[in-house]
Order: sequence, then structure tokens, then C-alpha cells
Amino acid sequence: MAAAAHVLVFPFPVQGHINCMLHFATALVGAGVHVTFLHTEHNLRRLGGRASASSPAGSPRLRFLSIPDGLPDDHRRSVADLLELYKSLAAEAMGPYRALLTPSPTTGSRAADVGVDPTGGFPPVTCLVADGLLPWAFHAAEELGVPAIAFRTASACSLLLFELGELPFPAGGDLDESVRGVPGMESLLRRRDLPSLCRRPNETDDVDPALRVLVKLSAHSGKARALILNTTASLEQSALAHIAPRMRDLFAVGPLHAMSPAASCSSLLREDDGCTAWLDCQADRSVVYASLGSLATISRDQFTELFSGLVAAGYPFLWVLRPDMVEASQDAALQEAARGAGGSKARIVAWAPQRDVLRHCAEGCFLTHAGWNSTLEAVVEGVPTVCWPFSADQQINSRFVGAVWRTGLDMKDVCNRAVVEKTVREAMESAEIRRSAQALAQQVRRDVAVGGSSATEFDRLVKFIKKLSTSSAVLGQ
Ligand code: UDP
Repeated sequence: MAAAAHVLVFPFPVQGHINCMLHFATALVGAGVHVTFLHTEHNLRRLGGRASASSPAGSPRLRFLSIPDGLPDDHRRSVADLLELYKSLAAEAMGPYRALLTPSPTTGSRAADVGVDPTGGFPPVTCLVADGLLPWAFHAAEELGVPAIAFRTASACSLLLFELGELPFPAGGDLDESVRGVPGMESLLRRRDLPSLCRRPNETDDVDPALRVLVKLSAHSGKARALILNTTASLEQSALAHIAPRMRDLFAVGPLHAMSPAASCSSLLREDDGCTAWLDCQADRSVVYASLGSLATISRDQFTELFSGLVAAGYPFLWVLRPDMVEASQDAALQEAARGAGGSKARIVAWAPQRDVLRHCAEGCFLTHAGWNSTLEAVVEGVPTVCWPFSADQQINSRFVGAVWRTGLDMKDVCNRAVVEKTVREAMESAEIRRSAQALAQQVRRDVAVGGSSATEFDRLVKFIKKLSTSSAVLGQ
């Protein structure tokens, strides 16, 4: 008889990865699978009771456990420290992590005695779905007889570009020069759209060490039993077709936030609960929502230019000003100054319930750093987007928005107050951009609805996981 499928879902412990993989976990639970979601102790503490509040109502099949990340509790874990977090997690978490996967000699149950187990009675872990940035996690699992699947939270196209590491990264030359050979971006990709790590402005510049690490890590994704991507054929058909033959199996199941039925609360910062009431008081499609995600930091000058541009554009705006976002600034003083200068048209918060904001009827356009989650969240709601990309895959995501899907505008490399003002106005007023955004939203919503490409892929994935649980039960005995 087949063992009950029990998946250990293990994200790299930063906000964007947690959000996306928690949506995936919630969807799995909805399909009858048991899921243990693995946080770091630090993040689980930050989430407090909100972690378990995200369990789909009435389902005892989702639980949250935690492992140490090895960093002191007061460590900032900022964007500059990601490599340190990565190394420390791999070193410190391995022991407790292996214990989660090792069958207990008395009960035969994996994960019986480790961490907090509010629900109890979970079957042994039969499959691991780990962030592709954690290859050590899937190697350890396979060694212990637990089949492992890789999950990448970035787009298929960016995975191709800087993670499978096969494309040449040209050095030197004009930033507007074309980069050829990227499926789905033929004649549309310029050097300035390459992920920041790949740009290499001068012939003398060596490849960025962080890029080397990413390429090395990513080579492992192809060796896992399968690869899961948070994207869909409507958005990235060519890139997916290019990746598929090189993987043992590939599942494009996104956008996952539109797939998982229950609202999941995974915010590491507390959401401001006055946003919706404020939006309720604004006219339809009148508000600019500005957020640069969970990691991007800006200089004091960039802050001033962005803020002045938003004020000059003249629309009411809701701005997420994270406590650690502006370099070398007194967080509270800055927020207070911005509130005063923005007047009654500005609402400034430390963290917003972004999905609720984007689907609110007052939402007019989204000024974003073009992280992949934020990009997908805007796509699903049909919201026109103004992109100000910073790093990693954000450069290529913003090119998708501006040149491939034409659902918004790309301010890449030129963000001063005049450009912000002009671009925001255009995104708010352009009927053409709104039409494209709404048409793409409809297409993508069809993908996640019953019978659509992502929903069908998700069903196939659930069958795949259930089949793996039979073989891993045999191996685990
Ligand atoms: N987010 C949020 N509230 C905010 C800002 C961001 O809930 O005030 C969420 C957003 O909905 C998205 C995630 O944080 O799911 C950010 O992920 P993304 O990939 O866009 O960017 P990253 O933070 O990884 O750079």
C-alpha cells in the first residue's frame, strides 16, 4: 500500500522565497498532501503566531518546524549578508536537518521529535522540495533515501541566463548592444537588461564572485528528480521549452499565489493594517503603490528623487518604506519627514499587505523593483507597472514588463524625479498599457484555473510526488 505523501518544503530563508514556497505548500495541502514547512528559528520567531495562522482553515496537514541558521539573533540578515547567511545555514543547520529526515528508531517516523510539532501524528517525510539555492539539502535527503525536487523562485528566463551558466556573458561594450540567444527575448535583450551580476562593464572586469556561486549552485537543479518553477507558459513559453529537455522533469506551476486557495500570512515584518481603509477612501484607479520589495536598499539621494517624483506626479500614493531601506538614515525620522512632506496624499508604511493592495479597486499603478513575486502579483491583478530594478533577476523581469508583455514601463538605469514623475503619469494614463495588463491577467488566470496549463502541471506534480512517496517508503524502511 502507498505511504501517505508527506513533503518537507524548505525555502531559502528570505521573504520572497518564503512567500512563494508557502503558496506552493498551501496548494499541496489542498491536494491532500501532508506538508512540513521548514523555517529558520529566527524567522519562525519573527512570524510568531502568524506562521500557524497561515494553515488553510481546518487542515491538520500543514505544520511549521524550524532549524537554526547559525547567525546571532540581532544580525540584520540584509541583502549584503546573503552569502554569509547561505554559508552559515549550510554549516549550522545540517545536523538538525538530517534528524528531520531520519526515521526515528522507536516510531519509524521521521521528524517526530524535532522542533515544535503542534499537530503531531505526521507520517514520515516521503519527499523533499528544497529551494534550488540549497543543493546541500537535497543531497543529504537523497543520501537518506528521501527523493528530492528542486524549486526555483525566479523566472525561467533568468534561470537560463545566469543560473544554468551556459550563456556567454559579454564584457565591455555599449549597454544598448543586443544580447542574442535567449529564448523568448530574441532581439529584445540588451546588455543593460542582463542580471546585474552578469553585466561586466569592462573587458578587464572578471565575472562577479556571487555569479560564480549562483552558477555553481544552479548546476545542481538539473540533477534533482525534477525542477519546479513559479511561472507559466503564457509568460515564458520559449524559455520553458528550452529548459525542459535538460531537466529530468519540469513543472511550471505558477503563479503560485493565484493557485493556492487560502490567504497565507508569511510576512516577516508586520503588515500595516490601515492600508485597506485608506485605499477605501480613494477614487478608483487613482493610487500609485510604490514598493521595492523586502531586500533592496537605496541611498538618501535615491530616496529624495523617488519621493519628489511621486509627489510631483500628483496622485495619492501608498509607499512602503521598510525600516532598513534607506542607507545611513534614521528610520523613524525619515518616515516622519516623508509623512509630513507627502501631506494628505501620501500614506507611508513599513510593510503593506501587498496582494490586497494590488487587487484593490483604488490601485492605479505599481512602482516596483520588479522582483519576480511582485512582478507576478501585478500581472495577475492586471495592474500597470513602473519598474525600477536593482539587482539579480530584476533587470530582466523589468524588460519583460516593458518590452515583451508591454504591461508597464521600465525606468532602468535612469531614476530621477523628472523620470519618476513622467513615467508614473504615463503608466497611470495609458489606455494601451492598461489593456495589455488586463489581457495578460486574463490569460494567466486561465493558466491557473481548472484545465489551464499550470493547474494541469500541478496535478501532474502531485501525482509525481505521490508516486515518489511509494518508492521512498520502501527506501526508508
Ligand atoms: N511584500 C509585501 N509587502 C510589502 C512589500 C513586499 O507583502 O510591503 C511581498 C510581496 O507581495 C512579494 C514579496 O514581499 O511577495 C517580495 O518578493 P519579490 O520577489 O517581489 O522581491 P524581493 O523581496 O525578493 O526582492
